[in-house]
Amino acid sequence: MENVKGCYYCDQDEGFRSLLFKICDLKASSVFLCKDQTLPGRCTIMFRDHYNELYEIPKEERDAFMDDVCALAQTIKELFGADKINYAIYGDEVTHVHFTLCPKYKGRLGWGGPFVLFPQEQDKITLTDDLYRERMEQIGAAVMEKRGIRP
Ligand SMILES: [Zn+2]
Repeated sequence: MENVKGCYYCDQDEGFRSLLFKICDLKASSVFLCKDQTLPGRCTIMFRDHYNELYEIPKEERDAFMDDVCALAQTIKELFGADKINYAIYGDEVTHVHFTLCPKYKGRLGWGGPFVLFPQEQDKITLTDDLYRERMEQIGAAVMEKRGIRP
């Protein structure tokens, strides 16, 4: 399937790359660390090809994608000690199939409700370049191992 010009996830332009840092490719997906790390471990995972809806993806590829999603969710939970992982596919304006995986922590931002998509500036936690790199390496190594992919 072709990339779709003008699609945020297909193009991955400079604006995209300033908010989503690519960690690795899995069997049917690419994994990104979100710049917003208010809740530690927040990631996005996109299906490798352009589809607008989960149900449009051929079943075999969708199953591989869901295995990638599960491996990433488990990785985040284990690495950061999250109490629950929230899975979100919205995409009204960015239709390319992707999940935001947002770890939730009891007593912290958004607990007991939908995760906060855009935390207020005063609540927002970002990291230094070194800490982003460290977190990306940590997640990448663990999730690739879970999927049996050699780095
Ligand atoms: Zn796309």
